[in-house]
Amino acid sequence: MRALQASTSYSAGLGISSVAAPLSRPCRRLGAVAKVEPTEKSIEIMRKFSEQYARKSDTYFCVDKGVTSVVIKGLAEHRDTLGAPLCPCRHYDDKAAEAQQGFWNCPCVPMRERKECHCMLFLTPDNDFAGQEQAITVEEIRETTANM
Ligand code: SF4
Repeated sequence: MRALQASTSYSAGLGISSVAAPLSRPCRRLGAVAKVEPTEKSIEIMRKFSEQYARKSDTYFCVDKGVTSVVIKGLAEHRDTLGAPLCPCRHYDDKAAEAQQGFWNCPCVPMRERKECHCMLFLTPDNDFAGQEQAITVEEIRETTANM
């Protein structure tokens, strides 16, 4: 099985201590982050945003679309609950204050400045886990997150 070589920032963001984990692992970790089922409207808005930003930034979705799906749903949940797509892969003491501050609203500053997405939503072509797609359907999101 292909193993996920978690980067330092990604490990920190998801609280993963191991440097190698099965590729499905981030899905489960992120699944724990999304506590409230987001609205269909917000999922669609974040899905479209993700496709457009991947094209704009010349980045690609993960080979495991489950990772992409969980991050999109996490962003949608924050859009619903906070009014802003706060990054779903990090721990915050005060989510509302973070969303207002804006540093970690997607696309976050590290992504905009250095193409660093610790959620693995936007992967540069040289990333081992980058797929070849910049599109994801609502059905894919539904199917890959059905058991979470
Ligand atoms: S671009 Fe930044 S805010 Fe958006 S998912 Fe990636 S790490 Fe999180």
